[in-house]
Amino acid sequence: YPPERVRNFSIIAHVDHGKSTLADRLLEITGTISSRQKNEQVLDRLQVERERGITVKAQTASLFYTYKGENYLLNLVDTPGHVDFNYEVARSLAACQGVILLVDANQGVQAQTVANMFLAWESDLEIIPVLNKIDLPYADPEAVAKQIGNLLPVEESDILKISAKTGLGVEEVLKTVIEKIPPPVSDWEKPAKALLFDSYFENYKGVICNLAIIDGAIHKGDKIIAHSTQREYVVQNIGILYPKETPTDVLYGGQVGYITAGIKTSSEAVVGDTFYLKDSPVEPLPGFKPAKPMVFAGIFPPDQSQLSFLRDAINKLVLNDSSVSVDLDSSASLGQGWRLGFLGLLHMDVFQQRLEQEFNASVIVTAPNIPYKVKIQGAKYIKQYGSDEITVLNPCRMPDSSVITEYQEPLVLATIIFPVEYIGAIINLVLERRGEQIEQTQLDNTRVLMKVKFPLNEILVDFFDILKSITSGYASFDYEDFGYQVSEMSKVSFFLNDVEVEDMTMICHISKARNMAKKICAKLKEKIPRQLFKVSVKGKVGSQIIAREDINALRKDVTAKCYGGDITRKNKLLAKQAEGKKKMRQIGSITVPKNVFIDIVRKD
Ligand code: GDP
Ligand code: MG
Repeated sequence: YPPERVRNFSIIAHVDHGKSTLADRLLEITGTISSRQKNEQVLDRLQVERERGITVKAQTASLFYTYKGENYLLNLVDTPGHVDFNYEVARSLAACQGVILLVDANQGVQAQTVANMFLAWESDLEIIPVLNKIDLPYADPEAVAKQIGNLLPVEESDILKISAKTGLGVEEVLKTVIEKIPPPVSDWEKPAKALLFDSYFENYKGVICNLAIIDGAIHKGDKIIAHSTQREYVVQNIGILYPKETPTDVLYGGQVGYITAGIKTSSEAVVGDTFYLKDSPVEPLPGFKPAKPMVFAGIFPPDQSQLSFLRDAINKLVLNDSSVSVDLDSSASLGQGWRLGFLGLLHMDVFQQRLEQEFNASVIVTAPNIPYKVKIQGAKYIKQYGSDEITVLNPCRMPDSSVITEYQEPLVLATIIFPVEYIGAIINLVLERRGEQIEQTQLDNTRVLMKVKFPLNEILVDFFDILKSITSGYASFDYEDFGYQVSEMSKVSFFLNDVEVEDMTMICHISKARNMAKKICAKLKEKIPRQLFKVSVKGKVGSQIIAREDINALRKDVTAKCYGGDITRKNKLLAKQAEGKKKMRQIGSITVPKNVFIDIVRKD
């Protein structure tokens, strides 16, 4: 397959608009999967994707298709839709020349439609707009085509209308991909140059690298060098993803595929890196903009004996998700562990779930927080912290307020799309969350696109749920990083019998700190199980106690009901209690369920 016969493309869309379903149909039409596998979302391979019904990981598949008597090799990348995984999308686009922009003809253009479209635009990719779900009775393809016409320079009549579910019009999509998306530019005479755009770990196979071959060719047995580390490897396996790894012995310029080469760790497989043949060095590719984690949480083993097991699991998973940052951390009650950085809360949940499901690693995750910057004064402190401006990833490590001269909090630029009748409710919500409206445009007669600058803190936890509920589910929301602003913050901390719950410490805007201290204290009282002794719960803002609750003592003796007689029954009960203890953790002498603190912050 010379470059003229290759097309590399991706499907981008708002979440649930039908990317994975379209990918299935394309695999089916081209005979890559049998129709028996129909409606299985074949490319959503991870258990977490199947359980949640969302794509979190971009997946590549090669398809063969004959058009006008010529055979084509089409490389399709299915990408996630949720804002937390935009980094996956941006990365996958680097291996493509064009995209199918899929829009639900029922729901119309949504926030991630716009965000993904801009990503494709910035990468100079050909954009093929396609309306999906036209089989639905309330689909309104004409109106949605108009919305797209307002965003993109396309003729409304040129927009394809399909049903990925029934297959209607999908063949036309393949033809348009071949007609409209330019073939990759590649010179097979030049020395080999390949972009590492993804990697993952599989048991028995080790690290598998996904490569887009830019120039030349890579063969099985070739000696290759990874530019960033200058390490040398021998290509052991090479092939295409059809959609499982299928060996071909060679990959030529313009093609996308996989290799294994005895690469062991995530620090060796740096996504965005350039591979070339030993003795034929090339100019490296520009690589990727590094991901910027915005949500941090501590991850700890349930007990310290599992520390090295968890380290291994985290290393393997990070290989598959290079957007996660990893730092060592320790806590008085949890021992040694890590502070990991994620792109959002869903990303954090998915990472935890993948650790548990794919690597069998049970973990304690602390309440999430975001990074703050502070300026500090006093030679002693500047020396201690290494600089007069520091970024605080863990709120309990925030320097004392007397030392701080300025706080800065992270901002996002949000895009909210909603039906025009909700504008009053949206403006109230924006004000309540300290938002500042930057721009407002009409997408068409019925819908508004609003850009708002928000403190990240205000939208992290429940913003999207509230936005959905005040708009009866009609609003959509996406955001991007927007730097920092100077702000007035204070530390809010919690104590159980005067022992600080370090991982509950939070940083709040001063206007909200007192309420937060009271609210969380009340929740702690409600959620912490009674102990054999009385427990006092205190909430402080800075060093001042703002809230106090008491949890009364309870006497719980599980063996009391056994009347002393039946020894086996008694032992069973004790064993059960020991099992229960594994799911518990200690704060001083107080025993609490291991996820109680994160649940208080997240789920209420
Ligand atoms: P993704 O999040 O973009 O990958 O979306 P999915 O492919 O997972 O689809 C989301 C939901 O829409 C699933 O329940 C699909 O069955 C459904 N869906 C996808 N395409 C169509 C379509 O053309 N018609 C109808 N009626 N439903 C569809
Ligand atoms: Mg999907």
